[in-house]
Amino acid sequence: MTNKTNDPALKSWIDVPPNCDFPIQNLPFGIYSTNSKDRRVGVAIGEKILDLYFLNKNGYLNDLPFTEKDFNCDFLNNMMLHGKQNVSNLRARVSTLLSNDNNEIKNNENQLNQLFDNQDKAQMHLPVKIGDYTDFYSSEQHAYNVGCMFRDPNNALLPNWKHIPVGYHGRSSSIIVSGEPVIRPKGQQKLDNQENPVFGPCKLLDFELEMGFITFEGKPLGETISTDEADDYIFGMCLFNDWSARDIQKWEYVPLGPFLAKNFASSMSPWIVTIDALEPFRIPGPNQEPAVLPYLEYNGDKHLDINLEVAIKAPNQKEKIVSNSNYKHMYWNMNQQLAHHSINGCDIHCGDLLASGTISGPNEGSYGSMLEISWKGTKPVDMPDGTQRRFINDGDTVTMRGYSEKNGVRIGFGEVKSEILPSK
Ligand code: CA
Repeated sequence: MTNKTNDPALKSWIDVPPNCDFPIQNLPFGIYSTNSKDRRVGVAIGEKILDLYFLNKNGYLNDLPFTEKDFNCDFLNNMMLHGKQNVSNLRARVSTLLSNDNNEIKNNENQLNQLFDNQDKAQMHLPVKIGDYTDFYSSEQHAYNVGCMFRDPNNALLPNWKHIPVGYHGRSSSIIVSGEPVIRPKGQQKLDNQENPVFGPCKLLDFELEMGFITFEGKPLGETISTDEADDYIFGMCLFNDWSARDIQKWEYVPLGPFLAKNFASSMSPWIVTIDALEPFRIPGPNQEPAVLPYLEYNGDKHLDINLEVAIKAPNQKEKIVSNSNYKHMYWNMNQQLAHHSINGCDIHCGDLLASGTISGPNEGSYGSMLEISWKGTKPVDMPDGTQRRFINDGDTVTMRGYSEKNGVRIGFGEVKSEILPSK
């Protein structure tokens, strides 16, 4: 539900430049450090970060149940363990303190230097200690494209696809934050014209444009979370690049699915944009036909309108935008994914990450992976320096960005960016 923190008329006494991702209506949470500060919880506002550790220490959060250990720590998990309502109240309190008509901080000039840091002087860190990571496969166009390429255009979707939010358990240990480079993986590959597999650096390295959501502590093992209850267990969202080694994937994925083609690295953006901030951008989802089973039915608008783009940049070259997509193209929404994940009694915990699967829109310019953009390498992309890309080269930097915009308010996710380094 929208509330006063979403009001388009709200303005902050902190300067927010035009087209900035972080107006007062956003207030995403992250973990940052500076030359003089250890890792701690911060909230992005304009080009600044509000230091929640000092905010709490100086008594501005006295009416809330948070303590020093919730903010003076390496991850957001301690804060998130207080649950949806308390974290919503915390964000609302920050909104009040930063709004134009509030002087509580603004007039304490001796505290301002301590309370605010510049984003360009701060180091962002992995925001969440991720327990379990699940990757879905919830964009119909992506599933259709892959089905066309590798199976049959007339039966591109597998029979279960419109009945089950298909997913697999990924690996959390190799999830990295934006800015950290990715080393090209090595592994077994076997091309169609080869009799035996070979071992070596991946030749078909790809990105997958995804978004992820982070959960609050769920219910005990054996209990389920309904689509209606799911809102209470979703903290917020980030941009997510599920790096994929297509040649390793093709050889290994039968019969049990993705393994080493996926778990060498996945990159996430550092700021977690809360579901509270995204409420104004809810939209209806696609008509789901055939009808889903009752536990996957949902009430209200649970899809979100979030513009997404992907850029590739070679060293010392201009970047090339290779995809403009939107999170609204998802067939299954987060509530359905969470309900499905827990319908067998699987327990969800504070800091789990559930990713969308590659988000592809209906036309070529909106596909979410090079596999689809170059259509298995048959349609190379022209780069600004005259070279072409079918997949990702060493030295390339892939950047994903995302934002929602309505009534003059832009809720941005910042970016997730990684450079590809040669195999070791
Ligand atoms: Ca994926």
